[in-house]
Parts: sequence; structure tokens; C-alpha cells
Amino acid sequence: MLSGARVVLPTGVVENGRLAVDGTKIAADAPENAQVIDLTGHWLLPGFVDIHNHGGGGASFSSGTADQILTGVHTHRVHGTTTLVVSTVTDEMDVLARQAGLLSELAEQGEIAGIHFEGPFISPCRKGAHSEALLRDPDPAEVRKLVDAARGHAKMVTLATELPGGIESVRLLAEHGVIAAVGHTDATYEQTVAAIDAGATVATHLYNAMPQIGHRAPGPIAALLEDERVTVELINDGTHLHPAALQLAFHHAGPDRVAFITDAMDAAGFGDGRYLLGPLEVEVTDGVARLADSGAIAGSTLTLDRALRRAVTVDKLPVEHAVAALSANPARLLGLYDRVGSLEPGKDADLLVLDADFTLKGVMRKGTWVVVPELS
Ligand SMILES: [Zn+2]
Repeated sequence: MLSGARVVLPTGVVENGRLAVDGTKIAADAPENAQVIDLTGHWLLPGFVDIHNHGGGGASFSSGTADQILTGVHTHRVHGTTTLVVSTVTDEMDVLARQAGLLSELAEQGEIAGIHFEGPFISPCRKGAHSEALLRDPDPAEVRKLVDAARGHAKMVTLATELPGGIESVRLLAEHGVIAAVGHTDATYEQTVAAIDAGATVATHLYNAMPQIGHRAPGPIAALLEDERVTVELINDGTHLHPAALQLAFHHAGPDRVAFITDAMDAAGFGDGRYLLGPLEVEVTDGVARLADSGAIAGSTLTLDRALRRAVTVDKLPVEHAVAALSANPARLLGLYDRVGSLEPGKDADLLVLDADFTLKGVMRKGTWVVVPELS
């Protein structure tokens, strides 16, 4: 029984709240003789759900071995991410298919929540930190190959839907229950509307790697923000977007359609230095990752506990809105909201303890402490 905390529930913040955990689940009532943990002066939140993450702890999800990937997953877990969708970057199709096979085993073991393919079906004009030589048009047959290689664990594919085959690929993904995400795109407003009408439901890191808003050419950003069917990803690390751009997204999409992501690479939770992102070399300085040759921004070193802290202390978002963007919204998107994403009886006991200043103190996943809170 966790008692005395400010508990963030879907209905709002409850002062001096109580939460019972029985085995791996949140329970309606505490078992008899339950151990009581006094969390007075602390926040109690649902575990974070990250739908876009390339690595951490020095490990890359795109090229790592199973052990290395688990190191990366654990690095993010101790920072509060209890549900993690692993992202790949552009590579040769057979390399991606092989990695998808490895990742699908980790999904079967319950360590990760699935796979997000970012590339190779993206625009050379907005390639970001993806290898241009390996980009290709989203031919539905090729898209299908990656989805099949993931053996039912493909959760999302980011694609430039304006490219030949883009709209057919969106339809194919939607039919297979895989999220089609618009990103690394050079699409117009009208082309983006067509992609959403075909079934695209996510904006991959809104604002980044897409045309900016023009008053005569509003581009993809306006189309993605205005449509209620779309959830927009935001990288809230203070580098990828200006605080005013974050406010604009929250204002237009509303608090139920934003998902905070890390888009993290290997250096997250590890440190500055030289890394590989797929086949490309990345230099990380002061926590900012850039391609060694062009200086283009190359993912982040963010962890979601920092994204939350920034959202409430710098961006001054209401705690319940920030928490929804880190748990309920991405969980709903993944179709996992019946199991994770909020503190409700019957769901997995995935929960976080933070002090009054939003510093993470404890992490529980499926009823087991990953980080045991040291309470004074
Ligand atoms: Zn990414």
C-alpha cells in the first residue's frame, strides 16, 4: 500500500492518495497485512510509455545484440520508461529485417512493447540523421517485408507519405494494425491531409524533419495539428523545439493528442563522445547529438524523467497534461491502455515515485521495484 502521495489519476491529481499493489497489478484494495509505504511529500505517477527511442546506456537498438539492447532498455527503465517501443534507423533492408527478428524475440519476452521502423521510406530532402544512399520509396511490398520480419511486433512505421507508393503503404499499414506515422517528409498540407484520410495517425517528431508553416503553404504541421485523428510526437529536450512551439502544439492538438518521446540514441544515460547511429557517425557534445560530417541534429540524449521535469518546471504545463503526454496518450495509441498508461485497478503496477521537485526517486514495473525509493 502506497499512501500519502499526490497521485496523478486520469481524473486529476488526488492529494494524500492511496494506491494498492498486489503481485504484478494495481489492486482495488490492499491485501491484508500489506506493507505500507509512506510517500508523504512525493508524487505518484504511472510509468512512462516511449513510442520512439533508438537506444541508451551506450547501446543502439538498430545494431545492438540482445544483451546490448537490454542494457539500453534498462537504462531508460531506471529513468521511468516502463513501456518502450524500440526504433530502428535507415539501413539495408536485410539488416533491418534481421534486427527486427532479434527485436521481436525481446517483444515476446515482454522486455519491449514492439518495433518502430523509422526509415528507409523517407524523403531525401528531410533525411535528418538517416543515410541518404539507403533511402527508398515506400513500395507497399517492401513495407510489407519489414512488417512481416517483425512477426506481429511492428507497432509503427514512419514514412514520407508523398513519395510514390506512400498512400498505398499507409493503407497497408492501417489494414495490418500498424501505426502509419508521417515524418521525415516534404509533403504539402494537401498531401498530408490525404495521408491522414488514408489512415496515418501519428506525426513523427512534429516540427523536426518537415517543412515549416508558411501562411500560403501551411505544410504538414498545420494538417497534423488540426486533425483529431492524429497524435503528435514532441521531443521536449530544450534543443529540438522552442518552448513556444510546444505550447502551440498543446494548444492546437489539446492535451490528449500529444505524446512526449525521447528519440534517444546510444548516448542517453551514458555520456558525450563518438557513436554510430545506424551506419552514420555521431558526435555528442554537452548532451546534444549531431552528425559528425554535416552537423545535422541526430536524435537526442533525453530520458523521459527529464522531459517531464522540463514540461512542468520550464513549460509550466499542468502536471496531469504532462503525465498524459508521457503515459495515457502513447498507451492508447499502442492499444495498450487496458494494461498500462494510468494508475487504475487491474492494470500493471507500473508506477513512479518523484519528490516534490519532480526528481525521480522510485520506479516499479509489474509490481517489482526497478529503482527502490529511498525515502527520508
Ligand atoms: Zn527517431
